[in-house]
Amino acid sequence: MSTNGTGVVIAESSTPLPEGVRLPIYLDNHATTPLDPRVLEAMMPYLTNIFGNAASRNHSFGWEAEKAVEKAREQVAKLIGATAKEVIFTSGATESNNLALKGIAEMYRERGNHIITQVTEHKAVLDTCKKLEKQGYRVTYLPVGADGLIDLEDLKRAIDDKTILVSIMYANNEIGVIQPVREIGAICKEKGVLFHTDAVQAVGKIPVDVQKDNIDVLSLSGHKLYGPKGVGALYVRRRNPRVQISEQINGGGHERGMRSGTLNVPGIVGLGAACEIALNEMDAEAKREKELRDYLKHKLESALDYVHVNGNMEHHLPGNLNMSFVYVEGESLLMGINDVAVSSGSACTSATLEPSYVLKALGLGDDVAHSSIRFGLGRFNTKAEVDYVADKIIDVVKKLRELSPLYEMVKEGIDLSKIEWAAH
Ligand SMILES: *Cc1c(COP(=O)(O)O)cnc(C)c1O
Repeated sequence: MSTNGTGVVIAESSTPLPEGVRLPIYLDNHATTPLDPRVLEAMMPYLTNIFGNAASRNHSFGWEAEKAVEKAREQVAKLIGATAKEVIFTSGATESNNLALKGIAEMYRERGNHIITQVTEHKAVLDTCKKLEKQGYRVTYLPVGADGLIDLEDLKRAIDDKTILVSIMYANNEIGVIQPVREIGAICKEKGVLFHTDAVQAVGKIPVDVQKDNIDVLSLSGHKLYGPKGVGALYVRRRNPRVQISEQINGGGHERGMRSGTLNVPGIVGLGAACEIALNEMDAEAKREKELRDYLKHKLESALDYVHVNGNMEHHLPGNLNMSFVYVEGESLLMGINDVAVSSGSACTSATLEPSYVLKALGLGDDVAHSSIRFGLGRFNTKAEVDYVADKIIDVVKKLRELSPLYEMVKEGIDLSKIEWAAH
C-alpha cells in the first residue's frame, strides 16, 4: 500500500506497470482538466511581474494588464465565432449560467415569465431555474429520450407567448450526449425567443460557432479545457438580436456593466491561451480521443457481458464513455479500481448515495445507475493508460460477479423479472 500524495491509500499493483503508466490514472476530464503547461507558461508573468489592475487607467501597470485581457477576449471569441466585445469574463460557468438565466429573466420580465430548459442540465442551470420559480417565473423542464436527447417537437410545443428564454446545454457532462443545438437555435430564432446554452463540455472539444449554431448566450469555463479554475466567460450576442442582461453583481461597472469586480488577469490570460491551443489542436485531438474511447468501449464490450453504453453514441463527445456494468455493485467496483480516477453513476448527497439524476432521466433503474462509470478521456491520456484501465475493470467486474447471486442466476437462465426483489 502507498498513498498518492493526497492521503488516499492506493493498492500497489502486483505486476509491474506498463511503460508510460503512472498511478493514479486521471480519467475524469469532465470534472476538471489539468492545466496545460503551455497555459501555465502564458499565465506566469501575470502572477508575478505584470500584476496591474486592468481597470487602472493612469499607468503602464494597468495598461499592460488591460492589453493582456483584451488579447484573451479575442482568443475566447475566436474559438466560438464571436466578436471580442461579446465576451464577458466571469468566475466560471456556474456564475455564467446564473448571470445568463437571472440576468435575462430580470431584463425581459415585462415581455414574459416563461423559461424552457431540460432535465439533464447541470445543477448550475437547474438550481438557478428552481430559484427563479420561487420568484414567480414559470419553468418547463423538457424530458429526454432513452438516448439523452430532447425532442424538438416537445420544444416547439412548449414555447408560448410568455416564453423569453430557452436554455439547453450543448453537451452533457455525464453521458457526453450532444443536443441538436443548431436546430434548437433555429427554432428559437423563428419564434423570437432567446437561446442560451451551457457549452462547458463542448467548447474546445468540438466545433462551436455562435453564428452557425444560432446561439444568443453561451457559458464556458476555463478548467474544463485545460485552463485554470475560477475563470469562465459568458458570450452575449450584440447583433441580431442585441441581447441585454441585467447585472447580478454591482460595483464599478466592469465588463460593460454586466459583471463588476476586478478582473482575474492571470486567470483570464490562461483562459485565452487555453482557447487558442484548443482551436489549433481540436480536430486532431478529437480524432485521437474518439479512437481511444472507441478502443476502450470495444475492449470492455468484448470481454464482459451485461454491459451497456449510456447515451446516444452518434451525437457524442469524443472523450466520453458512460457505461453500466450490470450486476455489479457500483461502490465495490470503484473500490476495486481505486488507482483510477473516474466518476460513478452515484452522487453523494449528504450521507446517502443517490443515483445520478441524469442516468435516471434516461430511464435507468437505481441499481444500474449505481453500477455505471463515466470515463472522461482527455488531452494527456495515453493508449497505455486506457489498456491498464480496461484490463483492471474487466478483472474487477469478473471478480465481483463471481460473488453476485443475481449474476449467477442470470447466467443459469432464471428469469429475474419473476423475482420480486430483483425488480428495483
Ligand atoms: C463543470 C460544469 C459547470 C460548472 O462550471 P464551473 O466553472 O466549475 O463553475 C457547468 N456546466 C457544465 C456542463 C459543467 O460540466
